[in-house]
Amino acid sequence: MRQKIVAANWKLNKTLSEGIELVKFLQLKVNEYDKVIKIICPTFPLLYPIGQVLNKEKNFYLGAQNCSAFEKGAYTGEVSASILKSVHCDYVIIGHSERRSIFNESEEILKRKLERALNENIKAIYCVGEELEQRKNRLQFDVVEKQLENIFSLNNEQLSQIIIAYEPIWAIGTGVNASPKEAQEMHRFIREIIAKKDTNIANAIPVLYGGSCNAGNASQLFSQKDIDGGLIGSASLKGEEFIQIIYAAS
Ligand code: PEP
Repeated sequence: MRQKIVAANWKLNKTLSEGIELVKFLQLKVNEYDKVIKIICPTFPLLYPIGQVLNKEKNFYLGAQNCSAFEKGAYTGEVSASILKSVHCDYVIIGHSERRSIFNESEEILKRKLERALNENIKAIYCVGEELEQRKNRLQFDVVEKQLENIFSLNNEQLSQIIIAYEPIWAIGTGVNASPKEAQEMHRFIREIIAKKDTNIANAIPVLYGGSCNAGNASQLFSQKDIDGGLIGSASLKGEEFIQIIYAAS
């Protein structure tokens, strides 16, 4: 049985006081026996103070939304994986579609970011997913397979530190989620691709769904055989809604 994981991608939202209030609310509502891994991904300046209030005994962990492809040096505005580690970050999102499209992050850059994170023992939540036009042209499997190439060069130990998030771009922030059947089909496919490298890792690797996942559709999505939880954007900003998503995974 794979452990369920629910990650909150706050994107460019939440001030420090709002973030702390939300985390305290969630932690009050979750009991100590809750086995779901909850990963909170705030903006960079909030990482350390939010990390200070996260309760690992209740399985709350800290994640960043991005990290630099560079190790250190004259790269103004960048945040390296080792700096993330120094503020006790356990996870980092890499390859989110907003990074790929708005910030032009190429597969090559993402590969370097993955390596940086894994070198620091930070688990990477690696995002893949197709555009609407690609799905209309039935190219979704080709697109995702290509995006997965980045993790193929990793050794098995590194691969076991990866979480995949399947996030169809047409579902992100649109209110239109992939149906449980569409999501399951892609998650199964992702596992089959990874099985070509190693079947044990393919069976063990967490594959999360992301894209307009909310309190209303989470249980149906999470009950699919190959869906191990979710990467949640807008619905993670509202305590009452996000707690329902956590319960749906529990
Ligand atoms: C995301 O951006 O990772 C995401 C899943 O967003 P939303 O839940 O708002 O669709």
